[in-house]
Amino acid sequence: MATQTIERPDVDTDTADDTDRPKVFHYVKKDKIAESAVMGTHVVALCGEVFPVTRAAKPGSPVCPKCKKIYSRMKKGE
Ligand SMILES: [Zn+2]
Repeated sequence: MATQTIERPDVDTDTADDTDRPKVFHYVKKDKIAESAVMGTHVVALCGEVFPVTRAAKPGSPVCPKCKKIYSRMKKGE
């Protein structure tokens, strides 16, 4: 029942010229995800990628290597 206001619909199909943009999921703070889902705002991932949250990560989906690296570094630092 989500009424999302997003600039562009999230097209979940692979287009031919989408090859340089691999579908990976980025690490984003949980509260930011919730805010984005409600407000339709963009979130900033750990790696600096900015995008609107339109779907949840599915198990088995590739994770952005940059985010992964930063995340593991953060965990170590704590
Ligand atoms: Zn990332």
